[in-house]
Formats: sequence, structure tokens, C-alpha cells
Amino acid sequence: MAARGAAQAHQTHNHRECIEDALKRAREICAGRGAQLTPLREKVLQIVWRSHKPVGAYDVLDELARSHKSARPPTVYRALDFLMGEGLIHKIESLNAYLGCVEAGAPHSGQFLICRQCGATEEIVDAKLETALDQAAKQAHFAGERKVVEISGLCARCAA
Ligand SMILES: [Zn+2]
Ligand SMILES: [Zn+2]
Ligand SMILES: [Zn+2]
Repeated sequence: MAARGAAQAHQTHNHRECIEDALKRAREICAGRGAQLTPLREKVLQIVWRSHKPVGAYDVLDELARSHKSARPPTVYRALDFLMGEGLIHKIESLNAYLGCVEAGAPHSGQFLICRQCGATEEIVDAKLETALDQAAKQAHFAGERKVVEISGLCARCAA
């Protein structure tokens, strides 16, 4: 299970540090690969990281438009695609929304615990689970391409 960031989803913490860490890591990762983390892409990443709740593309656009008045949906989708391509954010399929990755730079598909009450979403990165899914697909002679594991329920705080 990912230690960094994951357990913070539903706890009071200094979220500014989460954002700063994420942006710093993103800059390092992109610099290392020669990928262009433009100010606009960085801004979009910052918006996605505004909380530990997945953010929809139109919410990103609303916020982006405050500083980038010419931003349109394609601007946002291109930036989101770039950030996904670099492994900096994940798409939460069941919510059609985006979440900052807590293990950016490490190859994984990510598994998510989504609170249906407060929306806090925790990423767990469990290599054993990924391997089990890969093996199950292989045994079924299925050429798996995309793995989506999204568990909805109640986070510790909402369940209490
Ligand atoms: Zn945080
Ligand atoms: Zn991740
Ligand atoms: Zn909750």
C-alpha cells in the first residue's frame, strides 16, 4: 500500500504540502524525460491536486479560466491527457473525473477507494493485486489492456 499521501485522503493535514510535493515531483519527472510541463499543464495539475477528491474536466476548466481566459474544453483535455500520459494523474472512470497520483513516476495502474459520501478518494498501489489481476486475465486467455479497480463505500471518517 502506498504510504505517501494515501492515508491523508480523509485526515486533516497540511494539503499545501501535498500540492507542493506533487508539483515538485512532476517537474522532476518531466525534466528527466524531456517532457514539456508548460505553465498551463502545471496549472491544470495544481487544480487536479486541489483536494483528495476527483475533479471533473469542467471543474478544471472553470478554475483554469480564472488565470487563462482563453482556455476551452480542448485545452483542458489536452493538458489532462498529457498529465495522464506522464503518469501524474489518474482518471477515475466511475466518476469521469481526475485525481493526482500519489506514486507518480512508478509504473502502476492504481486502485482506488472512493467515499460515496464525502468524495475523498484514496489511491492504493498494491503490486500483488495488480499481479493477481494480470494472472486472472492470462488464465482466461484474455489480452488485458486496461485495469480499473474502483471500490466505492465509506471512508474511515464518514463510517465513524
Ligand atoms: Zn493532501
Ligand atoms: Zn497512481
Ligand atoms: Zn468520506
